[in-house]
Amino acid sequence: MAELIFAGLALAALFALAMNRAPLWLWALAAAVFTFGAQMGLVHGHLHWPVFPWWSLLGWLVAALVFVASFPEIKRKYITLPAYGALKGVMPTISETEREALEAGTVGWDAELFSGAPDWSKLRRTAPITLTAEERAFLDGPTVELCKRLNDWRIRHELHDIPDDIWRFIRENGFLGMLISRAHGGLGFSAQAQSLIIGKISSRSPDGVTIVMVPNSLGPGELIEKYGTDAQKEYFLPRLAKGEEIPCFALTGPFSGSDAASMRDVGVVARGVHEGKDTLGVKLSWDKRYITLAPNATLLGLAFRLFDPDNLLGRGEDIGITLALVPTNHPGVEIGRRHLPAGAAFPNGPTRGREVFIPVDWIIGGAERAGQGWRMLMACLAAGRSISLPATSAAATKALLRTTSAYARIRKQFNLPIGFMEGVEEPLARMAETAYELEAARAVTASMVSAGEKPAVISALLKYVSTERMRQSVNDALDIHGGRGICDGPSNYIQGAYQMVPVGITVEGANILTRTLITFAQGALRSHPYLFTEIEALQDDDQERGIELFEETLGQHVAFTLSNGAGALFHNLTFAVFASSPPNAGPTRGWWKELARASRSFALVADMTVALLGGGLKVKQKITGRMADALAELYLLSSVLKRYEDDGRQTADLALLNYCAMNCLYRFDQALLGVLRNFPVRPAAWAMWPLVFPLGTRRPASDAHGKALVRQVLQPGAFRDRLTRDIFSPDDPSDRVGLLEYALKKVIANEEADKKLERAIRKGDVKRYHNNDWIAEAKSKGVLTEEEASSLAELRDLVARVIAVDDFDAASLAARRAPAAPPLTTVRPEPHEHIAAE
Ligand SMILES: Cc1cc2nc3c(=O)[nH]c(=O)nc-3n(C[C@H](O)[C@H](O)[C@H](O)COP(=O)(O)OP(=O)(O)OC[C@H]3O[C@@H](n4cnc5c(N)ncnc54)[C@H](O)[C@@H]3O)c2cc1C
Repeated sequence: MAELIFAGLALAALFALAMNRAPLWLWALAAAVFTFGAQMGLVHGHLHWPVFPWWSLLGWLVAALVFVASFPEIKRKYITLPAYGALKGVMPTISETEREALEAGTVGWDAELFSGAPDWSKLRRTAPITLTAEERAFLDGPTVELCKRLNDWRIRHELHDIPDDIWRFIRENGFLGMLISRAHGGLGFSAQAQSLIIGKISSRSPDGVTIVMVPNSLGPGELIEKYGTDAQKEYFLPRLAKGEEIPCFALTGPFSGSDAASMRDVGVVARGVHEGKDTLGVKLSWDKRYITLAPNATLLGLAFRLFDPDNLLGRGEDIGITLALVPTNHPGVEIGRRHLPAGAAFPNGPTRGREVFIPVDWIIGGAERAGQGWRMLMACLAAGRSISLPATSAAATKALLRTTSAYARIRKQFNLPIGFMEGVEEPLARMAETAYELEAARAVTASMVSAGEKPAVISALLKYVSTERMRQSVNDALDIHGGRGICDGPSNYIQGAYQMVPVGITVEGANILTRTLITFAQGALRSHPYLFTEIEALQDDDQERGIELFEETLGQHVAFTLSNGAGALFHNLTFAVFASSPPNAGPTRGWWKELARASRSFALVADMTVALLGGGLKVKQKITGRMADALAELYLLSSVLKRYEDDGRQTADLALLNYCAMNCLYRFDQALLGVLRNFPVRPAAWAMWPLVFPLGTRRPASDAHGKALVRQVLQPGAFRDRLTRDIFSPDDPSDRVGLLEYALKKVIANEEADKKLERAIRKGDVKRYHNNDWIAEAKSKGVLTEEEASSLAELRDLVARVIAVDDFDAASLAARRAPAAPPLTTVRPEPHEHIAAE
């Protein structure tokens, strides 16, 4: 017994030291006290003169080494310098473009999750969804009106374009200037308002929203607002806000997609003639593709690498990535042809130019900002990536849940609504979970941006996770609809979203890259409390200063690692009972504690990953991808906990929150398990395993839990409305989506009468065939009352309309297939080949 108490005390002391990040001398003292205590026979329950077993030598050796290491000179000579030398060649290096990307955004809640001990007040401080009266009126007024006017089928199939009346409505109501400040003629809406407006429009027409979204995200408007010269602001911003200029922004080229910074588009500073005058300017050659709105654009934002061989700007030869504004009617600008991205109808196409001369004033921000293009782009991306795609993904999942749950209740097979079948319940529960989580994460992230944050890591994480989950929801919705979802036509409300899925997956950083490289491999550099400083120290040209900074950070880093190891083991062994939670957490207290516990485990594994993979971090993408997944789950869990609070702790939502929390933690464990199973440094994996999974992994939510949740979703009411809020959801039965809502209510109202009819049909008293009016027969046989019969007859017609798919005249389809003009391949001679040929 005494031995156990002694061992317990020793362990508790070690935990206390590790968790409190104790200095080295205290560790040495603890090692000495426990070694001495053990020798004194405390382990046998009584004191006697010291004995000297072999292990006591080990204890004293550790105590002595740690004590000696606490002397600064010795630490510097025997620990810091060897570690500095060893890590200098191993740690990841940071290139200039990477540094600009890293320094462009802000860190926030992501850093708390990386810390292993999140400060809850930071999340709780983020404002709930708040809109000004004007923003609310815009969301409920012009936005709803625009949704009503958008005819997805006409746009997507008949016109293959956005009709003029929609462009006009969008321009006249200021949709194109939501992010432009009021001072410059825009609406100056908050990020939260923009996110909600974009989401609502996208729930009606994925093509329609694109023309609103693009001018309100990374592009000329935002770049001029933030970095433009006064003259650029005064001239362009009011014109962009009113839609007198249609902007596009061209970064991507055939040879520079994900690796956009490697662009071959080039500008050379030179003197030339502009409007009849000798002018200092830039001769530009570019070849860009995939540019949204390019075919309609009047103002082309262009990214290129600028050189100044004659040093006309006085800044040396290689100036760097630069952004310029080029009117599309400027001589030499080739623009107007279109790509056909995934059958979508929004304008998208290539643009090219050879040796096009532009005045230097057309550089965004003027000559002063030449060379700062990458930093400007990254700063805008860190905020912008938090808005558009999370908004459209969350809206798509909510809209799909609304239509699919209605359909699953209305559509019967085997005499049962398909939503009541367990096989269908499973994807429906997943859709409900996704809708709750994505809306939660969208809202909290938009609030962060509204508050001035530019969350670099969170925006990357949310971009890939929201578009991936949206892809899953679209697939689930299609599966549940069967043929009704597959056959396209004016009554199909899924195909628009389905066709646009790959666009969301690819733009603003294609998902594979965003998951495996940007979120964790680069995110760790940003959000880890010490890594970035350590690398800076290792790369510092002033070696003395570098070593000093390295030593200071290394000590803190080691203490951080020890505290995470001890904390992870402790909280995993005690099921988070002693983990922290925010004050007054109420019924979700346990989940906050679980989040704290998971954050400890994440911090430990993240720390070991960056420390041990070092420069290999960017290539071990299966590891970093899983770490990104783990971080994403922590972020989603944080978001749903915050949403539950912000929504006023709705009792009806608690079961859904529990469902989300269980699944987030389950997926989190699976992601970490994958990391440990495949961790390249095996001894480190063996050491982490018992700390992270001493009692195994957590389980996902149960089938019964999912069933209860789906039953609620299949009912019209406040729960379903909350889960699918802020989408365009008409209840007019003449609308393809409104019809579902209308029919769903009728299904519920007629449930009892329908059961009577079904019973009579099963017994053979009533015949249900196309040549017989079975409802009239049931009425004549006294199975149904007159009222029930007329109501069921109305419902029968409604259901027939809900399940109907469109069919077409074969000749009209053949006419549609005839190509309008021969395609032009995008393969063009490289500029030097072009010049050589001439
Ligand atoms: C419909 C549409 C609209 C667009 N609009 C615009 C626009 O308005 N302006 C603009 O400038 N661009 C636009 N783009 C371009 C878009 O940003 C690029 O398509 C995107 O950056 C990916 O480039 P890529 O298609 O050349 O793919 P690639 O770069 O060839 O990538 C192919 C695959 O390899 C993966 N990959 C690449 N590098 C890595 C890595 N290091 N690690 C792991 N995986 C990697 C990618 O994730 C991707 O899955 C648009 C694209 C589309 C399809």
